Amino acid sequence: MHNGSERFKGIDGGHEMDERRPVLCPYCGTSSLRHDRCETCAGLFDPLSRQATQNHMGPWFIRDIEHPFRPGCSYAVMKAMALRGKITPATIVRGPSTRQFWEIAKRVPGIAHILGVCHACAAAARVDDVACKTCNASFNVEQDRQYMGLGEVREIPTMARIPSREQR
Ligand SMILES: [Zn+2]
Ligand SMILES: [Zn+2]
Repeated sequence: MHNGSERFKGIDGGHEMDERRPVLCPYCGTSSLRHDRCETCAGLFDPLSRQATQNHMGPWFIRDIEHPFRPGCSYAVMKAMALRGKITPATIVRGPSTRQFWEIAKRVPGIAHILGVCHACAAAARVDDVACKTCNASFNVEQDRQYMGLGEVREIPTMARIPSREQR
């Protein structure tokens, strides 16, 4: 094996780079003429950086118009961001505890209590609480990063669609 392929071998998606061509950033999907880091998101393209990003990926998403194409992150990353003030009660997020529907962070199980409130009754809560002392709502969330939290697929009744058609 020659040095070129060894150098870029790593996490899936690693590939040899043609020095003349722009590369597609694996983190934000933008073309970059720099081959060491993304010109848009500043992410580094080396195998260790790819692995570090992969390690932090997960089923949680933050709605951010300035960075709309960032990958999802793990619960551990969400918790750290909430503790650093990067997620506020008004931040819009989605994850396993919202069944991937967008929700305001102060109403999201597993996130709101880190921000100081119960997601269910808005009473004061602490980051280490496992349940609300006022309404007893659980603050536990599934922490498996492969778990999306999607609900069951259920048949949509045909009758339910008729009124919306008639309204048109
Ligand atoms: Zn990028
Ligand atoms: Zn509560």
